[in-house]
Amino acid sequence: MRPNWAEIRLDRVANNYKAIKQLVGDSVKVMAVIKADGYGHGAREIANYLEQQTITPDWLGVVLVEEGIQLREAGAKSPILCLAGFWQEDQAMDCIKYNLVPTIYRFDMLETLSKAARANNCEWRFHLKIDTGMSRLGILPGELSDFVKLLKNYPELILDGVMTHLASADELEKAEFTNRQIKTFHDCLSQIKNHGLNPTYQHISNSAGTSSWLEARGNLVRAGGLLYGFTDTIAPNVVIKVAPALSLHTRIILLKRVPAGTSLGYCNSFFTKRESLIATLPIGYEDGLRRNYSNIGKVLIRGQVASIVGRISMDLTLIDVTDIVGVQLGDEVVLIGESGDNSISAEKMAAMTGTISYELTCGLSDRVPRIYLTEK
Ligand SMILES: *Cc1c(COP(=O)(O)O)cnc(C)c1O
Repeated sequence: MRPNWAEIRLDRVANNYKAIKQLVGDSVKVMAVIKADGYGHGAREIANYLEQQTITPDWLGVVLVEEGIQLREAGAKSPILCLAGFWQEDQAMDCIKYNLVPTIYRFDMLETLSKAARANNCEWRFHLKIDTGMSRLGILPGELSDFVKLLKNYPELILDGVMTHLASADELEKAEFTNRQIKTFHDCLSQIKNHGLNPTYQHISNSAGTSSWLEARGNLVRAGGLLYGFTDTIAPNVVIKVAPALSLHTRIILLKRVPAGTSLGYCNSFFTKRESLIATLPIGYEDGLRRNYSNIGKVLIRGQVASIVGRISMDLTLIDVTDIVGVQLGDEVVLIGESGDNSISAEKMAAMTGTISYELTCGLSDRVPRIYLTEK
């Protein structure tokens, strides 16, 4: 194995979950959103750790039925919501077999789920998604009345929750848009209640909504980013202490002294301006290090900051360690995380590469082993 690894601090994930619980108070449940393998952090490990710590999450959120099955097979006991529902009959059957609650966002899904429920001789719960402005998954508010009428034909289906998703909760300057989404949702909820239905859960907010929009908390919030300690969705006036759970590490596998004027890497994108000590790192864009971090990225060694020089290639990256005191072959290099008094957050790396922290951690490939730690 090359010396590349990501460390996941499970204790931090657990503390972040507790911090979200504390922020929203006792009357609001918190769904730990661990889709996409927990945004690259490891869904099963997080679910198991939370449950073992008797922090038992109120809900776990995944996108795919298959992700839910993986969690159940790993022993997860908490309620699981599949945020993208199902698109085949066998997946609806699996929802029942593995005790997963699907999200429904199309009329015909009622028939599919009902068939699965009848085949299993049981009732089954689902959450209805309403599109209030995201224009992605969800039925339109104007379709709600017809939906509820159709639902009455399926007595074996239980409307356990009603949900929507905010499009720009992290953009406080777009308050008008978000407020309209929230109002539309509450109007829909009244309509549902007028039909005599009383769903247990009403939920609207992702991490940004949870932090910025008090009136959008409903009685359940769906938090992903905050769980992993991403802070870019936290509104300036909100006090919540979360810490980043993931750090990314590698080691120097070659040290080379080169004269001034030496070209480094592909395409001659960097020429040394002085005699330089250049270190090779066995990590590249295949591992999830974005290529547009070339010549702008920073890394940490022995608590000091060094620069990425030349193009990041598929498996290898060069850094300038001329000024790093005491640098040695085999030294640990931190790409995301802390070293001495310095730190580089996923958010900072994301800002420099024109993306968001989510995409960076999701983009760490399987080639980077995850090491799970519970404290340091
Ligand atoms: C991913 C997702 C979330 C979590 O979003 P964060 O910004 O990570 O908190 C919430 N709701 C839905 C529907 C999602 O798909």
